[in-house]
Amino acid sequence: MAFNTKYIFVTGGVLSSLGKGLASAAIGALLESRGLSVTLQKLDPYINVDPGTMNPFQHGEVFVTDDGAETDLDLGHYERFTHAKLGRDNNFTTGKIYDAVISKERRGEYLGGTVQVIPHITDEIKNSVKLVANDVDVVIVEIGGTIGDIESLPFLEAIRQFKADVDKDDVIYIHLTLVPYINTSGELKTKPTQHSVKELRSIGIQPDILLCRTDRFLSSEIKSKIALFCNVSEDAVITAKDVDLIYEVPLVFHQEGLDQKIVELLQIWTRAPRLDDWQELIHKCKAPKHEVTIGIVGKYVDLTESYKSLNEALYHGGIANDCRVKLQFIDSEKIDPNTCDEMVCEVDGILVPGGFGRRGIEGKICAANYARTNSIPYFGICLGMQIAVIEFARYVAGLEQANSSEFNLETPDPVIYLLTEWFDEKTGTVQRRDIDSDKGGTMRLGAYPCNLVENTFAYQAYEQKEISERHRHRYEFNNAYKDKLKEHGMVFSGESPSGELVEIIEIKDHPWFLGCQFHPEFKSRPMKPHPLFREFIRAALQRTQAKNNFP
Ligand code: GLN
Repeated sequence: MAFNTKYIFVTGGVLSSLGKGLASAAIGALLESRGLSVTLQKLDPYINVDPGTMNPFQHGEVFVTDDGAETDLDLGHYERFTHAKLGRDNNFTTGKIYDAVISKERRGEYLGGTVQVIPHITDEIKNSVKLVANDVDVVIVEIGGTIGDIESLPFLEAIRQFKADVDKDDVIYIHLTLVPYINTSGELKTKPTQHSVKELRSIGIQPDILLCRTDRFLSSEIKSKIALFCNVSEDAVITAKDVDLIYEVPLVFHQEGLDQKIVELLQIWTRAPRLDDWQELIHKCKAPKHEVTIGIVGKYVDLTESYKSLNEALYHGGIANDCRVKLQFIDSEKIDPNTCDEMVCEVDGILVPGGFGRRGIEGKICAANYARTNSIPYFGICLGMQIAVIEFARYVAGLEQANSSEFNLETPDPVIYLLTEWFDEKTGTVQRRDIDSDKGGTMRLGAYPCNLVENTFAYQAYEQKEISERHRHRYEFNNAYKDKLKEHGMVFSGESPSGELVEIIEIKDHPWFLGCQFHPEFKSRPMKPHPLFREFIRAALQRTQAKNNFP
């Protein structure tokens, strides 16, 4: 690297949900296409130390990184769009920053001085940004929230100071705003953008580039008006036009000259961008030959933003099979043996995703039973794997009251239980957990190795013996039941290297029935669809094709 590490700070104005996370991820993709190495970081203004304990219905999915950090879902976008390796240091919240400052104060590190937002909190924020700056050309830092929020002020002050601490060519500010089209007057309105930039400038930040979210391309008159009022050059006003597919964002930004402007402002000389793979991807996504419908069985409240990575991974599985994947969300609380047939009969594959708590469990067991007995491809993820085990134990192995101790502590057959002591392959130590430990503190989190058994669905998908996947759960398969379930035809196709933890289960004599204790969705990429999602969609597609050929 012939230049200093460069920093891009991305802020958002006017309103939330304009797609700041996606915009940051797309900027990362564009810079990578020019041969630069990037990393991304999210600074979240809320007080929670991490999103691990936040309600996914309010906050969206908790994204888990290899190192076991429970992070904001925007990190999922960053990983899907770039090759950046993300972890704990790529997501800071106000809570985490204050936690660090207060711990330092308690340890006496401030030598009795008065600890204040400026400089102590802002210094801590700036140091957190620098933590991820090693070995990359460009660090892209997204500030959560919207300009004008009280909570974001310390972060904005810190990034304002940042530019004074380094070479001025090493930092740029990109601001995402909204340029709404007003139907009644037939006009695009620039006032919200002007106000938002005014607010940003009042705290000392002059944006270098404006990304204007809008439903149509901005004319050069509009651009020059925005440029004039916001004190940026006209070619720094970029249309962030709505797109059908999120993976089009890098291409739209490129057409608008965004990457060119960024490298110019940061004074980096790069090769011309190579975007063929993105173009090819969009081409593949636009007109798939086939179509399947996947039923996702979960609690109604969870079935929205809380499965961001899952929805993307299914989409990627579709790309790998030239297939459009239609999702049908099925409320598990409405499923019982009488309604099951009607509720799931239309789908080509059934997926039971991760989840916590006992609500809706029996409905999910019903759905797994339906999939097993009707030869419908079944994919159980984390809780979905545990559900498949309970179903099999009850209806195949005859353990009528089998359950997970998460849902019934009194069950005579806890086929899924809380393993209180286990050998952690990652740290090489014995770990302990119990039911009363802190919520969140006792989960198995992050990447763990797993060995696969040949001649199984799992091996067929991965085509390798050793894999690594990310976890986020407390309960495990109970090995006391392994032999019994094996006798009845359950296949244990993936286990931890020590053999202590069951990671994948399957059922023989079925087109495709697999449950995994980990979350494969976190590692799927549009250009590298996850093997299990690819195979699940393939099996679902085969089922529809067979159905259509022999009605
Ligand atoms: N509730 C289950 C457990 O804690 C499954 C968790 C999940 O699906 N992520 O083990």
